[in-house]
Amino acid sequence: MDHRYEQLYIGGEWVRPSSSRLITAVNPSTEDALGSVPEGLEADVDRAVDAARRACDEPGGWASWEPERRADVMEQFAAQLEARADRIATLVSSQNGLPISMARQLEVGYPTAVLRYYAGLARTTAFTEVRAGLLGGSVEVRRVPVGVVAAIVPWNYPQVLSMFKIAPAMATGCTVVLKPSPEATLDSFLVAEAAEAAGIPAGVLNVVPGGREAGAHLVSHPGVDKVAFTGSTAAGRAIAETCGRLLRPVTLELGGKSAGIVLDDAVLDPARIGQDLVAATLTNNGQTCFLSTRILAPRSRYTEVVDLVTDLVRTLPVGDALDERTLIGPMATPQQRDRVEGYIAKGRSEGARLTTGGGRPADLDKGWFVEPTVFADVDNGFVVAQEEIFGPVLCVIPYDDVEDAVHIANDSDYGLGGTVWTSDPERGAAVARRVRTGTIGVNRYLPDPVAPFGGVKASGLGSELGPEGLESYLQFQSVYC
Ligand code: NAD
Repeated sequence: MDHRYEQLYIGGEWVRPSSSRLITAVNPSTEDALGSVPEGLEADVDRAVDAARRACDEPGGWASWEPERRADVMEQFAAQLEARADRIATLVSSQNGLPISMARQLEVGYPTAVLRYYAGLARTTAFTEVRAGLLGGSVEVRRVPVGVVAAIVPWNYPQVLSMFKIAPAMATGCTVVLKPSPEATLDSFLVAEAAEAAGIPAGVLNVVPGGREAGAHLVSHPGVDKVAFTGSTAAGRAIAETCGRLLRPVTLELGGKSAGIVLDDAVLDPARIGQDLVAATLTNNGQTCFLSTRILAPRSRYTEVVDLVTDLVRTLPVGDALDERTLIGPMATPQQRDRVEGYIAKGRSEGARLTTGGGRPADLDKGWFVEPTVFADVDNGFVVAQEEIFGPVLCVIPYDDVEDAVHIANDSDYGLGGTVWTSDPERGAAVARRVRTGTIGVNRYLPDPVAPFGGVKASGLGSELGPEGLESYLQFQSVYC
């Protein structure tokens, strides 16, 4: 495979980048080079913001289109992405290690569903309302697009996390500069190709892959009106500081360390809950922000839970992300593998008991693989229970009663996802409501596009998805008539 892109998609055209610097893509399953894209530098970001600015502000431009007309284009865009489904899924899997069977669903099916959902909302949302004034006359309350959006995304779900931003931005009449992460850039060129083929007007979507410097330049660019960021808490804090100084609206979807609370009435049958439990705790090789990586187990059934989790994890097929049978692929980068291995060493030194994994798979001599790993007898104060590992490492923590479980779940800097496992869904929902987190599931975890998705505490600010996800791309204007 040799994917070589030499131009950037800016202002509806394929343009020469400002420099000859390249970002090289490497397959984490094989360590083979996959191709390269131009690295966007400050001058490229400037050009993209100018293009987005023009597309937003010009008379008759995107922002002034009737929402239904924008929705038509968004639906074309979804169809064009679907036409590239196999290539997108393959490129994502071969860049970040997401198993291909999941990539089709999560990186093509889901983003196009989100795009169509927001096209539907563009058609049905009332962007203007006239109210009788309390002081006489009337008031026209307008919900107008915030303007040019800087969309900055990480490598773990490059397609869906881009679409969480592009879809509501397009629905509201905003224009976008998308900055993909250097670790997952190739697939963003297919997004640009799909945008062009769908007839999205010039400048409405611009794609500039680049590193932290390009991202920081974009965040502080005077032509940007709003920042939508998904990534680490550390980068989110830096971005929030810049946006605070500039009084620039920002949404931040950051890290997590969520709890999966197994209640004492849970059915611990692998045939009944195995698939959902693995999905909620290990999807994308643990490289997912919302996973319930702290499994809280009642002392009365602690051994049973540890055995269940250990058996499930021990039997997961580990291998090349492009192999249909694979459920655990590699870490996206060697640095990420080092980081995960560092946490495994930390867990051992803290006194956690390794029940499976802990090393590298013996049968794979290439690729940045880590064995799926379970630690038992973990204290919630351990570093491995407090910090986001972002790899296939689970901690099973004992609790005394439901009060204690809720206390442990909430004893975290983060608050993004979570799950409750029980044979009584009502009881599960009652416990779920007590966890201080942005999203939580009972007996499964499935972020539904109709509901807001976001974190509290160090997991972020604001929400994406749902009708609520439109709000941060809109501002009010009240016209007193
Ligand atoms: P990262 O923060 O290193 O990078 C994310 C993106 O931000 C990249 O495009 C990067 O180039 C850019 N960036 C980094 N520093 C920047 C800065 N100072 N200014 C502007 N841009 C900057 O994160 P990562 O390692 O790529 O992704 C993993 C992290 O993302 C994990 O912490 C994970 O939990 C989080 N994440 C959160 C969600 C969510 O919805 N809450 C979803 C997926 C991933």
